[in-house]
Amino acid sequence: MSRYLIGVDIGGTSIKIGCFDLNGYLIEKWDIPTDKSNQGENILKDIAYSIINKVDVQSITGIGFGVPGPVSDGVVLNCVNLGWGQKNVSQEFNRIFPYDYIPVRVSNDANIACAGEVFSGSGKGYKNVVMFTLGTGVGGGILVDGKIVEGLNGVAGELGHMLIDRKYNLPCNCGKKGCTETVASATGIVNLAKLKLKETTQRSLLRQYDNFSAKRVFDMAKQGDEIALQVIDEASDYLAYAMSLVALTLNPELFIIGGGVSNAGDFLLDKIKTRFYPYVGPFIKNQKMVIASLGNDAGMYGAAFLVRP
Ligand SMILES: [Zn+2]
Repeated sequence: MSRYLIGVDIGGTSIKIGCFDLNGYLIEKWDIPTDKSNQGENILKDIAYSIINKVDVQSITGIGFGVPGPVSDGVVLNCVNLGWGQKNVSQEFNRIFPYDYIPVRVSNDANIACAGEVFSGSGKGYKNVVMFTLGTGVGGGILVDGKIVEGLNGVAGELGHMLIDRKYNLPCNCGKKGCTETVASATGIVNLAKLKLKETTQRSLLRQYDNFSAKRVFDMAKQGDEIALQVIDEASDYLAYAMSLVALTLNPELFIIGGGVSNAGDFLLDKIKTRFYPYVGPFIKNQKMVIASLGNDAGMYGAAFLVRP
């Protein structure tokens, strides 16, 4: 009989559920909406029903969950996006899902995105990997010896909140200033561009827009727009600096760059690489860096990774 892994990535608006074979090959995936009413009390119930309806429960090897908040030892510490406070997900899920011999594991969504890329994406086959997810914010995930690193309070891998900028001191959602995500996320790139446009009167294709996205800044940079190029160079420099700190701390085999900003591909990767080596000096010569390949499905793959045999 074939066996399946179930990967569940719980987001603030929808929940992605994937059914995988034991090697991480996706067999079927579907979405259900996230019901955040009453402090998200229906979320686990909805997931349980959805799985029972779609999959032959007898053939499930394990169910993994990714949640948008810190997790330590299987306990979600808080999850503002879902309305959850502290929650023992596996215990509660097993109460609803009447098959408690099926193992249930849970981890943070940025961590499992990294695990997903290692399970079936551009990090396949590696065991010591660090991933930066550059979206609206910056997420981070760390795998050491094939295991997700969570730390004491689930804070390990919060690479988006390392203090790396003391020049602009832009405020971060976390309450600090100068975090990685203030200058290297999609929002950060737009922030930098707006500052630069204000700083000078230099001509720029960006001046024709009142509002623009990070993608627009990349597109203009690729067309040779001087201001856009300066912005991308600067954001890449901040990222390279953040990565150098991690590289000298963990010496990973591989860095993976994911999230919407990573759609810029080699254009971004090349800029990061040129700036990375001066920061690590003589200690690291050939650092492998790749762009993520699973897109928004990475978390679902990573959730399945948690319960692989
Ligand atoms: Zn922050």
